[in-house]
Amino acid sequence: MPDPNGFLRYDRRLPARRPVPVRIMDWREVYPPAGEELIREQATRCMDCGIPFCHDGCPLGNRIPDWNDLVRTGGWDAAVESLHATNNFPEFTGRLCPAPCEAACVLGLGGQQPVTIKQVEVEIADAAVARGGLRPQPVPAPTGRSVAVVGSGPAGLAAAQQLARAGHAVTVYERDDALGGLLRYGIPDFKLEKRHIDRRLAQLAAEGVRFRAGVNVGVDVTAEELRAEHDAVLLACGALQGRDTPETPGRALRGVHQAMAHLVAANRVVAAAGEGRPALATLPDGTPIDAAGKHVVIIGGGDTAADCLGVAHRQGAAGVHQLDLYPEPPADRDAARDPWPTWPWVLRSYPAHEEGGERVFAVAVQEFVDDGTGQVRAVRIAEVTVEKVDGRRIVTALPGSEREIPADLVLLAIGFEGTEEQPLLAQLGVARNGRGAVDARPDWQAGADGVFVAGDMHRGASLIVWAIAEGRAAAAAVHAYLGGVGTLPAPVDPARQPLAAR
Ligand SMILES: Cc1cc2nc3c(=O)[nH]c(=O)nc-3n(C[C@H](O)[C@H](O)[C@H](O)COP(=O)(O)OP(=O)(O)OC[C@H]3O[C@@H](n4cnc5c(N)ncnc54)[C@H](O)[C@@H]3O)c2cc1C
Ligand code: SF4
Repeated sequence: MPDPNGFLRYDRRLPARRPVPVRIMDWREVYPPAGEELIREQATRCMDCGIPFCHDGCPLGNRIPDWNDLVRTGGWDAAVESLHATNNFPEFTGRLCPAPCEAACVLGLGGQQPVTIKQVEVEIADAAVARGGLRPQPVPAPTGRSVAVVGSGPAGLAAAQQLARAGHAVTVYERDDALGGLLRYGIPDFKLEKRHIDRRLAQLAAEGVRFRAGVNVGVDVTAEELRAEHDAVLLACGALQGRDTPETPGRALRGVHQAMAHLVAANRVVAAAGEGRPALATLPDGTPIDAAGKHVVIIGGGDTAADCLGVAHRQGAAGVHQLDLYPEPPADRDAARDPWPTWPWVLRSYPAHEEGGERVFAVAVQEFVDDGTGQVRAVRIAEVTVEKVDGRRIVTALPGSEREIPADLVLLAIGFEGTEEQPLLAQLGVARNGRGAVDARPDWQAGADGVFVAGDMHRGASLIVWAIAEGRAAAAAVHAYLGGVGTLPAPVDPARQPLAAR
């Protein structure tokens, strides 16, 4: 029986982040562990309500009240087991999930602060490692069926683990030199140190998953060869087609780059340093891309932009502006617009925002300004209003509002346009839809027999928690297709959407 008064006795509290002047000198994670006393106190705030809406907020259906109560009573081993029953990688979501479960926490109905669900999750995940490591699960008798998983992000890895644990022979193909998808070279170490990925990969390998990094499927191995070798193919290639702004004057200037080019280069330098290898932050063609000493302008307001901000400060930028097309959101939920338990439109500040930089809202870039040598020296912005008319976004500049912001390095973090067009798709007879994503039938097949799709490739650029949920659900569908015994858990179907009021 949970403590019915816990939320009355304790306020929501999170562990203090590492001090800004210290943490921007390194690439280590920003949050230290909460410690057992704080986390048991916070887990005590969970009421274990009759209808826990946090379950609906979490695409994985994590059994949040169960593990909160186990943490409260010190039942760490059972908490680890409960969490792993629904989530293959809680050390990723516990660190990185924006926690839609917390927006749906029933405490929010009465104006209380939600339970620190995500923090409890990461503490349980880390307890699993501290209490004996991530032990591989026993491998069942082989089914004799074989699956190729293309892409090693959270969707591909979750599917691979589920299928290997059901006895199928799984090979994960990844075109990058290292595994993990966006978690490896997209998301910086100050949000997720890569040892967490490596530890999981070791567990998957011990459970029988084979990895083939550095293999671009469709180029190094054809789809025909893949299909000849495997009984089913699961595509989890992500949504890595970066949105651009070719129509903006000056886009071709030196110093104007896609955000991902900057992040990948920076993360590769950190990775190389960890292995004792010197490296420079460069584009694949050798062009240096480093914020040191530069005035940086980041265009965009999401995760990618915030990650660029944190990277720029750690590289020693002279100053950073982050530009957002939309007006500054309110600090608190507007219940008329986004009633509980939906995900509210509120100002979201990431730890990177505490580290410096200026956020500028309701502006759009009119021109990247040339310094006369083909290098950007400023961005010219205008204040704007944004309206939706017949589903289309209309951006209107306010006359006379234009001004320049100095810029030596401009990073475009304006979103993604779905999965990349690549030879693999045509070889498999799979097409992108109008959003650049790949549609899935209710059984997760992508229009070609025995070819399944999951994660960002299906959903469009989204979140790790959705990628894991889709990976698990698609694995269940592959298992059924292969005639596997019993059923695997399928937390979502392809049509599932986040909680919404309309
Ligand atoms: C900068 C950034 C920060 C983010 N931060 C967060 C965050 O804090 N929290 C959060 O929840 N989400 C975050 N996201 C979103 C999250 O990373 C993605 O939703 C998630 O990684 C999607 O997982 P996935 O497995 O579908 O694809 P991905 O992680 O994109 O992995 C796809 C993989 O497929 C590989 N691949 C593609 N084609 C081929 C091929 N032909 N052959 C072999 N391999 C191939 C790619 O190289 C890639 O490694 C962030 C995204 C970005 C870009
Ligand atoms: S995965 Fe995300 S939504 Fe689910 S319980 Fe964890 S923090 Fe909440």
